[in-house]
Amino acid sequence: MKPANSVLASFGTTVFEVMTRLAIEHQTINLGQGFPDEDGPDSIKAMVDTATKEGPNQYPPMMGIPELRQAIATHNKRFHGLDVDWQTETMVTTGATEGLAASILALIEPGDEAIVFEPLYDSYVPMLRRAGADVKLVRLSPPNWDLPKEELVAAFSERTKLILLNTPMNPTGKVFNEAELSFIADLVLKYDTYAICDEVYEHLIFDGAKHHPLMLLPGMRERTIRIGSAGKTFSMTSWKVGFLTAAPELLALIAKAHQFLVFTTPSNLQRAVAHGLHHEQDWYTNLSVGLQAKRDMLQSALTEIGFDVMPCDATYFMNADYRPLGFKGTDVDFCRHVTIEAGVTILPVSALYATPDVDHLVRFCFCKKDAVLEGALDRLRDFFRT
Ligand code: PMP
Ligand code: GLN
Repeated sequence: MKPANSVLASFGTTVFEVMTRLAIEHQTINLGQGFPDEDGPDSIKAMVDTATKEGPNQYPPMMGIPELRQAIATHNKRFHGLDVDWQTETMVTTGATEGLAASILALIEPGDEAIVFEPLYDSYVPMLRRAGADVKLVRLSPPNWDLPKEELVAAFSERTKLILLNTPMNPTGKVFNEAELSFIADLVLKYDTYAICDEVYEHLIFDGAKHHPLMLLPGMRERTIRIGSAGKTFSMTSWKVGFLTAAPELLALIAKAHQFLVFTTPSNLQRAVAHGLHHEQDWYTNLSVGLQAKRDMLQSALTEIGFDVMPCDATYFMNADYRPLGFKGTDVDFCRHVTIEAGVTILPVSALYATPDVDHLVRFCFCKKDAVLEGALDRLRDFFRT
């Protein structure tokens, strides 16, 4: 048979799936793949039932139901003071992942350059390359993951079509600060490019830090696509409801990709998420308070066990260097080792680089019940005998 598409064929199965399968096989405590072990608010679950019973359960409008699009516009205003016209500037997508894919497909022409920061969420590079982009990777380094300004300047060229920015950032737990964002915005303007902003963790931020959307910076409103996710905001990762905000001309282009990718997103879930954005603000703004306490607990316990723990200002994720424990192999070896021998599954950070060379960091997902985190820590303490 003729070979299939070579770009996708060159990628293996995503690390999230691989590690979760291994966790199931060995019946471990799974702190690998990023998902909470407690669902979000009951009121939005009840709304899914009501919406399903009431119907219609037929194709909703392609751009999303008006109720949810209005809620997305209100959410932009409430948290960031952004004036957004729900009819021309918002779209509901099937998860942030589809919003990212639609944005990439809408903007990239074969041969365009696209800049992304490593480490990264694993869908970016495959989707950019499949769209024909020449991907320019800019590497952030532990422990502080500061913006490498010279490398970023060097990555821009006249062929740059877009930069993809994830803040707060998976897997680093970094929140890009205002100075870094304005450095990026200046380059975006100088090279007349677009910015796709993956902001799915915008509410999962700690220590009173503030998330700043790039879209708020001078000159960015017209060229930025801001993407959120109900999966993260409401701890319902299976729902796959994304929020996309962009200027009208840009949104019209992205909508063309969306109409041929999925066309719509389940209407019962859209009604539930609209309800949540309007009525469960306390729930999702308080989520970070609980997560911050879990972060603190994990940070001190891992440090006591002997890991070198990296700072974490946001998201579900904490990174740690295991070399002080004396393990000599790669992060992939370490994750297999603790999965099989200690019964705790974590994620090798090298899997989140397109060109791995940092191979001594592992990622712990801490959006889990305290008892589950304690259980995992007990196993690690026993295993490393502290
Ligand atoms: N972006 C980032 C940075 C993520 O970590 C994730 C996943 N969990 C997504 C996008 C995907 O979001 P969704 O499940 O809404 O597609
Ligand atoms: N974003 C989640 C993580 O980083 C998982 C997403 C997925 O499983 N595709 O773990």
